[in-house]
Amino acid sequence: MTSPPPRTLFVFLDGVGLGPPDEANPLHTLTLPSFERMAGGQRWDSEIHPISQPNHVFQPIDATLGVAGLPQSGTGQATLFTGVNCAERAGRHFGPYPHSTSKPVIAHHNLFVQLREAGRTGAFANAYPDRFFRFVEARNRWTVTTLCCVEAEVKLRREDDLRNGEALAADLTASAWRESLGLDVPLLAEREAGERLARLSPEADLVLFEYYLTDKAGHSQDLGRATAVLRSLDAFFCGLLDALGSDDLLIVTSDHGNLEDLATKSHTRNPVPLVALGRGAEALAGVESLVDVTPTLVASMNK
Ligand SMILES: [Zn+2]
Repeated sequence: MTSPPPRTLFVFLDGVGLGPPDEANPLHTLTLPSFERMAGGQRWDSEIHPISQPNHVFQPIDATLGVAGLPQSGTGQATLFTGVNCAERAGRHFGPYPHSTSKPVIAHHNLFVQLREAGRTGAFANAYPDRFFRFVEARNRWTVTTLCCVEAEVKLRREDDLRNGEALAADLTASAWRESLGLDVPLLAEREAGERLARLSPEADLVLFEYYLTDKAGHSQDLGRATAVLRSLDAFFCGLLDALGSDDLLIVTSDHGNLEDLATKSHTRNPVPLVALGRGAEALAGVESLVDVTPTLVASMNK
């Protein structure tokens, strides 16, 4: 009898690369205990020693995809979540929304579609306010991850799910829902958001969560903002790591660099981190670029 696949929790961070260990790199200058825990006690920078153990992999992976110019979220995420090099297909890096040539690839080959074809299930933990649906439906402007869900008929969570403790806010605490949108949803500590994500794990073979404030903070070039975002995320990972079960596999990666270099307003061509922590982590050891992540994950769950 083959054992069931690990229950995978996939945390996607927008705009986090591994850059030089200098003063412009908040991932190097700040003490972030949970980040260090995910890297065997090391800080997340270009000097990092890769880890390749049965239950722990940490390695830099390529996000440039063999295409000149600065990587962008549309093609980077489409590549990450399909395993098809969508930057090469588009002939350039494109974003933040999916390029026209990426849309059919997302429709037919996205991670959730591939999981379903392998007899596995996927779920997406982020909640979106009604305003988001009005905006994207009017303009047909889905983000890569939400388009993956629409195409694979994976549920997109809403305000009620957030209120019931069955979804996560994009900012972890839901403070933006309360302060910017004026919605009466409970405020959550970051640590509790991490615990909540771990609690959603039994819902599907793979549960995805997307966090994009890292990219926003990188574009702002504001050290105070970058520090607040990284400390918030560190508390989230602390809750998540402490709540991981023995059957869980945590995957963390990104679409392109940005936050690790506050000296520039734009994205970078730095490699991005790939963390695999927990049961079956070693299956990810061969991943070299964004292209490899989805096929490797799906193959490892197909055994
Ligand atoms: Zn960006």
